[in-house]
Amino acid sequence: MTIRGFEFPTPELPPGIEALRADVRGFLEAEFAAGSWAPQSNFMAGFSAEFSQKLGARGWLGMTWPSRYGGHECSALERYVVTEELLAAGAPVSAHWVADRQSGPLLLRYGSEAQRQAILPRIAAGTCYFSIGMSEPDSGSDLASIRCQAKPADDGWIITGAKVWTSNAHRNHFMIALCRTGPAGDDRHGGLSQFLIDFKADDVAINPIYNLLGNHEFNEVVFDELLVAGDRLIGREGEDWQQVTSELALERSGPERFLSTFRLLVELVRACGPEPDRRAAEAIGRLTAHLVTLRRMSLSIAGMLEAGEMPNVEAAIVKDVGTRFEREVAEVARLVAPVEPARGAPGNEPNYAAVLAESILHLPSYTLRAGTTEIMRSIIARGLGLR
Ligand SMILES: Cc1cc2nc3c(=O)[nH]c(=O)nc-3n(C[C@H](O)[C@H](O)[C@H](O)COP(=O)(O)OP(=O)(O)OC[C@H]3O[C@@H](n4cnc5c(N)ncnc54)[C@H](O)[C@@H]3O)c2cc1C
Repeated sequence: MTIRGFEFPTPELPPGIEALRADVRGFLEAEFAAGSWAPQSNFMAGFSAEFSQKLGARGWLGMTWPSRYGGHECSALERYVVTEELLAAGAPVSAHWVADRQSGPLLLRYGSEAQRQAILPRIAAGTCYFSIGMSEPDSGSDLASIRCQAKPADDGWIITGAKVWTSNAHRNHFMIALCRTGPAGDDRHGGLSQFLIDFKADDVAINPIYNLLGNHEFNEVVFDELLVAGDRLIGREGEDWQQVTSELALERSGPERFLSTFRLLVELVRACGPEPDRRAAEAIGRLTAHLVTLRRMSLSIAGMLEAGEMPNVEAAIVKDVGTRFEREVAEVARLVAPVEPARGAPGNEPNYAAVLAESILHLPSYTLRAGTTEIMRSIIARGLGLR
């Protein structure tokens, strides 16, 4: 048996990238001082169309896309710097996040010219938001088993079925829904197609699901013989397994997979004070070393994406190690600086107990969303040649 190794080469950062970082930090400091937002630990929790539009106006959305679609022709590494600064500041990025990270790139790669022209400039302007329509009530990890069906009709497609855990469906403009349009075939990857669902125009039921914090962030979306026009198909009918899996490296490798408890780490450092005892100093030092390593790995993947590679296995490693790190931060915080976690009103003042409570309630979702730990490990094992 050959066991394949992995490399995470350090990419060369483009010139001017630190000036870009300083620019983003300056913008965030000014916005924060103006009370634009109360910092969020979870990047999917803070939804602000106004803030997304400000980012669009600054050229910080659709950064890597061609200018004819409203993009800015920057590198994936420049985009990386912008996203990590936004996340570290706990800025309200959830409105545009999925559209900018994966729906836009998917349309750029597989969409029709008409779809690109109609949608990409709006995403880059921060005015058009997308949901991911993959999971179903009985299909999460095993995406090939989805049952949501699109049947050809004279004037398009008739879609019947349900999607679940659809983040922000109640606020967003579109969903890219994965549907079955034909038989699965021997490898179970055939017969899958993706469709644009227009939440503002199509007759779909969007039923709220409340998370552990009692917040409405995700939903069940039900299609009851929904007729959509033929031009809603994205890419080629029945060949979308490759298309849908190409989103996953984008979804799994970014800094959102290890920065969801960054705010807690900052509050922990603050709670331990300028002269932490030895145990606290060691624990914080270990967490920081892990964070720095994860960032190097994730940045390396941005470099691979920039080079046109599709590093799905490396992305699964970042997702697995990163989301376990996010859990570890909360576990270490509870041991090193024990306080009673206390839900507080969102505010801009440092509040260790409130951030700890918020993090603990969000934590179970981090190792589930975008693919579970077990699924990441099975992808890694296959990549290593062990399966
Ligand atoms: C906060 C949050 C937001 C989300 N947002 C979206 C969204 O916007 N759009 C969307 O489409 N989905 C979304 N999801 C759904 C998410 O992708 C799924 O929850 C995830 O893929 C797991 O699927 P499942 O919940 O059906 O669990 P299951 O697939 O039923 O898994 C249950 C358990 O069995 C384990 N398991 C399953 N198969 C195997 C196997 N072969 N080997 C070993 N163990 C296995 C899993 O690891 C897990 O522990 C979101 C989830 C969360 C928590």
